[in-house]
Amino acid sequence: MPAPRTRVTCTFTFEAAHRLVWHPGKCRNLHGHSYRLDVSVEGPLDANGVVMDFDTLQEVVRTEVIDVWDHRDLNEVLDNPTAELLARRAWELLTGAGLDLAALRLWETTDSWVDLAPAAAD
Ligand SMILES: [Zn+2]
Repeated sequence: MPAPRTRVTCTFTFEAAHRLVWHPGKCRNLHGHSYRLDVSVEGPLDANGVVMDFDTLQEVVRTEVIDVWDHRDLNEVLDNPTAELLARRAWELLTGAGLDLAALRLWETTDSWVDLAPAAAD
């Protein structure tokens, strides 16, 4: 029987401001969110029995995303910092740093989030 696929996830929080200039409602005004970012990698277990050391995963995500975006005006990061586009930028930053992502979830509020998954192979 083949081994099950194993996915590990680390979760992070950061505080940031943004405004959506196209938005017809109150999101047009500068406001803040307590964002949560869940980052998952998947793969075979190594000789130590781990997919990836949690410490390593945390360090990469903190360095590439959390330390850069925490307490920032996200309109300085992206022209149009929707949750969808922020999640995509985080995905690009983390894959660029060498992570083989299985999933990424960005929570804008406690009841609203965006999920990204790897593009389907052609
Ligand atoms: Zn908002």
